[in-house]
Amino acid sequence: MSKHLTIVDTTLRDGEQTAGVVFSNQEKLRIARLLDELGVHQIEAGIPVMGGDEQQAIQDIVKLGLKASIMGWNRAVISDIEASLACGVDAVAISISTSDIHIEHKLMTTRGAVLERMVKATEFAKKHGVYISVNAEDASRTDMDFLIDFAREAKNAGADRLRYCDTVGILEPFTTYDRIKILIEKAGIDVEMHTHNDFGMATANALAGVKAGATHVGVTVNGLGERAGNAALEEVIMALKLLLDTDLNFATERFREVSEYVARASGRFLPVWKAIVGTNMFAHESGIHADGALKNPLTYEVFKPEDVGLERQIVVGKHSGTAAIKAKFTEYGKELTAAEADEILKRVRALAVDMKRSLFDKELVYIYEDMQAKRG
Ligand code: MN
Repeated sequence: MSKHLTIVDTTLRDGEQTAGVVFSNQEKLRIARLLDELGVHQIEAGIPVMGGDEQQAIQDIVKLGLKASIMGWNRAVISDIEASLACGVDAVAISISTSDIHIEHKLMTTRGAVLERMVKATEFAKKHGVYISVNAEDASRTDMDFLIDFAREAKNAGADRLRYCDTVGILEPFTTYDRIKILIEKAGIDVEMHTHNDFGMATANALAGVKAGATHVGVTVNGLGERAGNAALEEVIMALKLLLDTDLNFATERFREVSEYVARASGRFLPVWKAIVGTNMFAHESGIHADGALKNPLTYEVFKPEDVGLERQIVVGKHSGTAAIKAKFTEYGKELTAAEADEILKRVRALAVDMKRSLFDKELVYIYEDMQAKRG
């Protein structure tokens, strides 16, 4: 496994490519700043050859003078790369399909012509001194021998890395590991994992690639991206840190804030069950879990809510036990007797089933007041 992992965020390019998502230029600038503050190493800022607002936003992001490298996305076409260079980016992604299905049915050309176009574009970019990622689009459906040739030729033409694109999201971690290992051994080039979530495995596949020696990981905030999305920045960073013992020193305590901002800007709400940053990550309702979490949070949590900018919540509802009820009232400075806690729990369960939801804190207070009034 590489010790020097580079995180490449493409929220502004692949994220915005999601059907129905458009960021304003102000939002693009804000997102670029936030990514830089989190610790992202390279920001894929957009597609310069689109011109207009897209080009303006990329130029403005370059002018921010961030720590992160700023990359422009290009087809393997000289005029695309000229547009990137005109924006002042320090890195370019040069993308072309490598699978036969794309070559025959989309590009309507040959493998040889694909190699030729890629080499020409890469040599042109190399002359201008920018960092180069050559992207093998649909790499996961590409013949391995051809992909190895493609990667070798890219390297010879001056590419700094190969982006291995699981464009349609058909990989699983075991295959990913084997293929990335062979690719790196045979082509001797740095590899970026670019994975999609069609089978819910984008993050797992990114990690499998890293285990096999990939040095770069492409991500987006919230996993925003085409169809089922990309590998999520917050998932990849926390998994690297806690599951693969690779701490990239990101400002993880700001993850929730950044996720909320991107959710609003993209008009894609953040599910409460979203891995790492969803509000349910630290909500406990079931009696056994809440009791454990109250005694020692590590019984049911693998990291602290504040590590990602969330808060712990003990939810009182149908599955609650007396420990949670007592803890809630202690928060209000009221120590319940065992009999009181039992009585309240009974009422809580009945009300929760009746309303088909958990209860607000205020409703707990009403239950207590009703109980007192009856005794009164
Ligand atoms: Mn993609």
